[in-house]
Amino acid sequence: MKTIPHWINGSPTQGSAPSTQPVFDPATGAEQAQVVLGGPADVDTTVRAASAAFESWSESSLSQRTQVMFAFRQLLVEHEEELGRIISAEHGKTIDDARSEITRGREVVEFACGLGDVLKGSFSDQVSRGVDVHDFRQPLGVVAGITPFNFPAMVPLWMHPIAIATGNTFILKPSERDPSAANFVADLYRKAGLPDGVFNVVHGGKDAVDAILTHPGIEAVSFVGSTPIAKYVHEQATSHGKRVQALGGAKNHAVVLPDADLEFAANHITAGAYGSAGERCMAVSVAVAVGEAADGLVEVLARKAREVKVGPGNVPGVEMGPLITKVAQERVENAVAAATEQGATVVVDGRGLKVEGHEDGFFTGPSLLDHVTAEMDAYRHELFGPVLAIVRVDTLDEAIAVINANPYGNGTALFTASGEAARRFQRNVKVGMIGVNVPVPVPMSYYSFGGWKDSLIGDSPIHGPEGIRFSTRPKVVTTRWPQRAQQVTAGFDFPTSN
Ligand code: NAD
Repeated sequence: MKTIPHWINGSPTQGSAPSTQPVFDPATGAEQAQVVLGGPADVDTTVRAASAAFESWSESSLSQRTQVMFAFRQLLVEHEEELGRIISAEHGKTIDDARSEITRGREVVEFACGLGDVLKGSFSDQVSRGVDVHDFRQPLGVVAGITPFNFPAMVPLWMHPIAIATGNTFILKPSERDPSAANFVADLYRKAGLPDGVFNVVHGGKDAVDAILTHPGIEAVSFVGSTPIAKYVHEQATSHGKRVQALGGAKNHAVVLPDADLEFAANHITAGAYGSAGERCMAVSVAVAVGEAADGLVEVLARKAREVKVGPGNVPGVEMGPLITKVAQERVENAVAAATEQGATVVVDGRGLKVEGHEDGFFTGPSLLDHVTAEMDAYRHELFGPVLAIVRVDTLDEAIAVINANPYGNGTALFTASGEAARRFQRNVKVGMIGVNVPVPVPMSYYSFGGWKDSLIGDSPIHGPEGIRFSTRPKVVTTRWPQRAQQVTAGFDFPTSN
């Protein structure tokens, strides 16, 4: 049985902890590897290596750092297929879907390649007689990222290219459920010429996370995962004096107005709901059907849900793979059962789906629930599976009220032909990322990604300009170069400009 090691100071290592945890193939249900579980000693070893690396990396020039990023970007292109297969084998998503997440993550590397431009400071000439002011930003030191299972390449890529390009050294604690992508990326960085200790991977679960949150040598923590853990991470890390960005869970609504092209909307909602088996923080989990859109929409959504091709992620033509674990499969199927008991109509029932030759895989088929209300568990909880709930309302304003009453505010979409409706929607909805006739509105890397309310704890979205701000701290310098003979009186009053 293969053991997946940490990656510390430029090479793989088993670390100090004797414990390991199984990594499954979700398509077969079989254990395929063991991952080492790090604890305080491994985190401490890594922080020491990363601190030593920071001494020289933070002194490297902008062009040295961007050259590494350009090389790393090229390696991500060349190894996309290989990395996609690694992700698919542990996560279960299709290889094409895995390649798409690599592409979206690579865009952050491309943003980091343009660091020279985005890191430019500002300069004010002659703020007082003979006095100028300029500012610039410097890296924080050793920073860490704690990431979820659902995007084992993309979500870490939201963090480390910007952290590293701005001169920090980085410790990644990826999900223990699909850990191999992190080590593969570490090796690509090595091949790109990144010095040892600048990018490190410590595997593990709560013990490793707690050691990161409390270690005095770590300056900042980026977290992406479920809301309860995001709240825990934010509280723990801030109370230990760290800068924190913590992105949480979601319940994303797609509103369909009667003037929308129903076939177009249903096509996109189906892909947004069932793509990656609904295991995306931007997955569409609720369709809000407005007025007379409802019956027609449900009919088309049901047809499309039944057409989704479910199977192992490495089989060409498959559109949706298994869930990540048996526990996830049971959770999702129980939620569909509970929805029926609570009065929802199960239009398409994905429970009990068996994929031939993969009977022990963690599969469940697409489910479509109609007449769902805000009180039902299927609406209140993030199911993180291929379940689409339909909520029926009479007006757009009612749809906006439903969305705004939901504790999450990650993404939302509106399907309409009306510019007026789209404008009203985007101005009034309390959600961070909004799509107009776009179901999964994930911002490009040069914007920042982040939701509102329980989808983002604290105040810092990730990547883009916010990523630069988060990874650096500013200095403002006030300068005077007086001529030797010049008479400048030094007053005892607080300095003002004149
Ligand atoms: P998770 O919260 O279970 O795990 C995330 C990370 O936290 C993992 O590295 C895990 O090892 C660690 N962790 C888990 N339990 C912990 C505990 N008790 N103490 C300390 N650390 C712990 O999330 P997941 O199941 O891996 O991922 C799915 C969740 O992530 C969903 O809620 C999804 O919406 C969310 N997500 C959000 C975004 C976003 O951008 N907002 C993006 C991707 C995923």
